[in-house]
Amino acid sequence: MKPQGITLLGATGSIGVSTLDVISRNPDRYRIVALTANRDIDSLYKQCLEYQPCYAVMADPDAAEQLQKRLQTVAPDIEVLAGSEGLQRVAGLEEVDIVMAAIVGAAGLMPALEAARSGKRILLANKEALVMSGALFMQQVHDGGAVLLPVDSEHNAIFQSMPSSFVPGSGHPEGVSKIVLTASGGPFRTTPLEQLAGITPEQACAHPNWDMGRKISVDSATMMNKGLEVIEACWLFSLDSAQVQVVIHPQSVIHSMVQYRDGSVLAQLGRPDMRTPIGHCLSWPSRIDTGVEPLDIVAVGKLEFETPDLARFPCLRLAQEAWQAGGTASAVMNAANEIAVEAFLNRQLAFTAIPGIIETTLSQLGVTEALTLDAILEADQHARAYANTLVYGDAHVGELA
Ligand code: NAD
Ligand code: MG
Repeated sequence: MKPQGITLLGATGSIGVSTLDVISRNPDRYRIVALTANRDIDSLYKQCLEYQPCYAVMADPDAAEQLQKRLQTVAPDIEVLAGSEGLQRVAGLEEVDIVMAAIVGAAGLMPALEAARSGKRILLANKEALVMSGALFMQQVHDGGAVLLPVDSEHNAIFQSMPSSFVPGSGHPEGVSKIVLTASGGPFRTTPLEQLAGITPEQACAHPNWDMGRKISVDSATMMNKGLEVIEACWLFSLDSAQVQVVIHPQSVIHSMVQYRDGSVLAQLGRPDMRTPIGHCLSWPSRIDTGVEPLDIVAVGKLEFETPDLARFPCLRLAQEAWQAGGTASAVMNAANEIAVEAFLNRQLAFTAIPGIIETTLSQLGVTEALTLDAILEADQHARAYANTLVYGDAHVGELA
């Protein structure tokens, strides 16, 4: 069988590197056509030498120019592209069968939509794209004849626990009454509340179970990540948020569960290693080796569950409210969160001020219908501008109680 062509969007990130690891273990099945990154020239250069893609894309044009210079003598056949057009082009190439969408944040939306339009198998890690534009995204997947498979470990677990005839976007799954989305609770699940204001980016990025990029690590610490995942689940599995129960499960062994009308609850278990869901999406419906160690359930010993405390994790409530508000509210929330998290990572904003930025932005910006891409992008831009003035301007943002 001919190896399948892959575009890897966000190749230098945590998901990107794990994806290359799985692909390296299955060289007969997969062939890298394009690798992309934002501005990490050194990492993309090394990956280009190792994987010899046809295309390398840097979102940052200066970085693209430098990469081009470094590659021209050692790998002149690799075509270097730049910017958002470059990203979109490699997401829609004819020789590409699979697009791994692993750019972080709203920057990943346009190439992911292009992959949908072009009818690719889309491996979706970039949950922000779906949160921003769920209705439009699912419609593009349908119209383009694309197959959308969830890489996010919880959604992948749910997909694995669904009836075998189910694929995301095919409507409400037969016999399913609700899903249980598990969450580790992040590094501050039991930290005394009065200490949260002084949390540093280093502490927030030290996740107890998962090794991830910085933005999603902060999202996990605030539990905005779980909020984004509730919305992601509603779109992927055609559910209402009332059918999505968030449960804290500190061991991160059960990656999520599906409850059926007959009382059955199906779950997927495994080590907290993203190579499992990545491998599953690459090879679905068959299975491949991923390098993940087998789970030793006896060594795990006990599995615990608790209900999240919304006073400790206001971002989870904000995401549920944004989903209920509908329209562009999720895009506004996502944009304000991206601004607030970046400010926190740059030590410009207290950890506990993140939800306040999001809540004020949501309450001040009106919600409109999210019928067109332009409406979504406009809401995203307005929310970014507004959240930026809250963080860096004179406006005072109080912390949530
Ligand atoms: P990361 O920060 O490690 O990597 C992000 C990648 O995106 C890098 O390759 C970077 O160069 C690229 N990028 C960043 N900004 C860009 C821009 N403006 N334009 C183009 N490319 C840009 O992030 P990650 O942890 O790999 O997460 C990637 C996505 O996957 C996120 O949406 C995250 O929520 C999701 N996800 C990650 C994990 C995980 O375990 N890391 C698990 C589930 C879902
Ligand atoms: Mg997840």
